[in-house]
Amino acid sequence: MAIDIHKNDQSKQSAFNYDDFNFGTQPTDHLFLSEYDHGNWRSHRIVPTQHFSLSPFALCLHYGQTVFEGMKAFRQDNGKVHIFRPEKHHQRFNRSLERMCMPPIEKELFINALEELVRLEQHWIPQDKEVSLYIRPFVFATEPRLGVKVADNYTFCITCTPMGLYYPKPVRVKVETEYVRAAEGGVGYVKCGGNYGAAFYPTQQAKEQGFDQIIWTDAKTHQFLEEAGTMNMMVMLKDTLITPRLSTSILDGVTRNSIIQIARDKGMNVEERAISYQELEDAFNAGNRVELFGVGTAAVISPVYSIQIQGKDYSPYIEDGAIMFQLKTALENIRKGRAKDTHSWNHFI
Ligand SMILES: *Cc1c(COP(=O)(O)O)cnc(C)c1O
Repeated sequence: MAIDIHKNDQSKQSAFNYDDFNFGTQPTDHLFLSEYDHGNWRSHRIVPTQHFSLSPFALCLHYGQTVFEGMKAFRQDNGKVHIFRPEKHHQRFNRSLERMCMPPIEKELFINALEELVRLEQHWIPQDKEVSLYIRPFVFATEPRLGVKVADNYTFCITCTPMGLYYPKPVRVKVETEYVRAAEGGVGYVKCGGNYGAAFYPTQQAKEQGFDQIIWTDAKTHQFLEEAGTMNMMVMLKDTLITPRLSTSILDGVTRNSIIQIARDKGMNVEERAISYQELEDAFNAGNRVELFGVGTAAVISPVYSIQIQGKDYSPYIEDGAIMFQLKTALENIRKGRAKDTHSWNHFI
């Protein structure tokens, strides 16, 4: 399991403008790489950030065997750096790999690689700014072969980039009842590249109509909320937190899991169950306070200020007193070391 480390003697960090940057444009100085060949992951190494060399026949380019994860490392108020829930991300990574007939990554390799890489890149996480380190592990098929088949060769890479802990702008969403992101029995529950490419077209159409995002509904009846495509959806109805139950068409979000746990720890009612847009409409029409928000690693929570259901607009509650902001603060406090990490989510490096 040894990882060879070749240090980059030049860091781009000192030239990086933390006050004005677009997410995902500046990789940090190093990459982790490993190759799968003859049934084994081998030559684990950390090298200066570089481009790949790939055959035009590489199977990932044609038949979509690509799988990824998205996670973060944080610097606490006391300066210590940790990775948030890497074991949970590892389990999901392997579920995704299995569904795509790609070889699993041993937990020890995944965790060691993350630790070594984040140790080298931790100076990219400033102490005095709301910036974390976004970590992107991914695996893709490299075997050069045009026939449709499961590849025999893969690359496992981990790359990192700074990410602002921005206060997310509330979003306007539309409940989608025509297009489908994922159907039961399909691959909606895994982070494979094709899921995102397939969602672009309907999302672009929604954007042209003035929406920021789509809330997908189930493929069979188009009545039940699923998720937002990069975020899971949650609803606060009266004093109950409701989120769609997991299925093969919904991604098992780590943020979803963390927010549910925090809500339960606070003694809140939490229901994982089917929720129809009709139920939401009824709640709005009855004049009840409805909070609606997305949850995911990128934005933590993303408040919805407007939702269109069957052509009619409704306004969820987004004032400062909303419960979703308490849940968000509770999660951030655990990450920043301001509250007790009772579930051992912070993995210190
Ligand atoms: C990554 C992702 C989420 C959020 O998962 P987190 O683990 O919380 O980041 C939700 N839905 C989809 C489709 C995703 O790809």
